[in-house]
Amino acid sequence: MEQNNSSVSFSDIVIAGAGPAGSTASLFLSAAGIRHTLIDKAVFPRDKICGDALSGKVLPVLKKLNPELINELLTTNENCLGSRGIVFGAPNGKTLDVPFRAVNSVITHDPGFVSKRIHFDFSLIKKLNPEFCDFRQGNEISDIEYSNKKVQLALKTANGTTENLECKLLIGCDGAHSVANKLLGDEHKLDSNHYCGGIRAYYSNVKNMHPENYIELHFLDELLPGYFWIFPLPNGMANVGAGMLTKSISRKKVNLKTAMLNAIENNPSIKHRFAGAQLQGKIEGWGLPLGSKKRKISASNLLLCGDAAGMIDPFSGEGISNAMYCGMRAAEVAQNAVRENNFSDVFLKQYDELVYNRMWSELKLSHTLQKLCNYPSLFNFVVNKASKNETFRQTISCMFDDIDLRKKLRQPSFYFRMLFG
Ligand SMILES: Cc1cc2nc3c(=O)[nH]c(=O)nc-3n(C[C@H](O)[C@H](O)[C@H](O)COP(=O)(O)OP(=O)(O)OC[C@H]3O[C@@H](n4cnc5c(N)ncnc54)[C@H](O)[C@@H]3O)c2cc1C
Repeated sequence: MEQNNSSVSFSDIVIAGAGPAGSTASLFLSAAGIRHTLIDKAVFPRDKICGDALSGKVLPVLKKLNPELINELLTTNENCLGSRGIVFGAPNGKTLDVPFRAVNSVITHDPGFVSKRIHFDFSLIKKLNPEFCDFRQGNEISDIEYSNKKVQLALKTANGTTENLECKLLIGCDGAHSVANKLLGDEHKLDSNHYCGGIRAYYSNVKNMHPENYIELHFLDELLPGYFWIFPLPNGMANVGAGMLTKSISRKKVNLKTAMLNAIENNPSIKHRFAGAQLQGKIEGWGLPLGSKKRKISASNLLLCGDAAGMIDPFSGEGISNAMYCGMRAAEVAQNAVRENNFSDVFLKQYDELVYNRMWSELKLSHTLQKLCNYPSLFNFVVNKASKNETFRQTISCMFDDIDLRKKLRQPSFYFRMLFG
């Protein structure tokens, strides 16, 4: 990447949050020689409630940073398990196995991975470059407001004091409960049609995991219109969880934890696999702001990334790769803004275009698939049909693999093949 060691001081650009979005933005800014401050309230390594599955779409971002990172963080990392596909379980118990690798894929290593976030996020943090990144962990941003064409931040520091910081550009990567996105008023207010609740548990000794470490999404009757997952982890562990649209949780008055434990004990498709399995630690929940709705993700002096921007795939619940993609693009736009010394809303709007041009058609398709969960018999029909429909299987592969699904979505013949192929 072109070096741009300008007169930017560490405090001119602040990244709020050092999850995958924030650490990626920092790594790309450092690669461009741009000083910045990265702030996180947690001290790393820290846990993040998640399914821990990393799709193939993480790979091009890491590759752009440094191709060596793919080996170091994923393929040769003992905390990371390669995964070769996905199993869909329909409400009627039928399953559909889809390998991640699409026919025309050129990659040679495993196409997907599963790694506990405590490990994956820390592996990115360890790559931060102190020459350009002033990393302030254990510091919580308690308030953010505009003042005089800048953004003012109030920080609760690690030693309990309060500090004020002023920046020309805030890159908001502070997750599902973002403080940064409040600068956009109600734009990112929780919308229960586009927000999911999720819970995660770690289990040991779950039986009959796929020999090629396929991740599993099961659409069980007792959890519809939500889903239940089992993702394999290193050392015989599994990440097990459930997610459901917040609107449905309220409408059906579902207690996700009770519903999930009930399914584990009683659902005929999965209960035998949990006989003898042990829950390790607590079952914990967190929110998923879904990308099924297009929102404004930039404003004067502000770019939003990842969950703070509402970028989670509405069908798969996958948000790590989108967060990293946003981080990469935000660093690029920040570099342009520094070069032009222009942090206006009009200038920064290029970021919305870059991100949505890449992601919107995929997010829309996922939204359509998500709606299928409201119609169990239609879902059963689709899984039956998909098991015989190569185009459908290829499409699912592309959704998780390093392949540009957008090109396919632009071809009318694709929809024909998908429906009748
Ligand atoms: C139950 C569940 C299962 C999921 N499963 C998957 C999956 O299998 N695969 C997948 O790809 N995605 C999954 N997701 C989504 C994924 O976890 C998120 O999309 C991803 O973590 C987004 O990354 P991020 O960097 O935007 O935010 P985060 O990872 O949430 O990072 C935000 C960071 O900001 C910090 N922060 C927050 N507030 C402040 C503040 N005020 N001051 C300072 N720091 C702050 C936090 O400490 C945190 O480190 C799941 C989510 C949930 C809830």
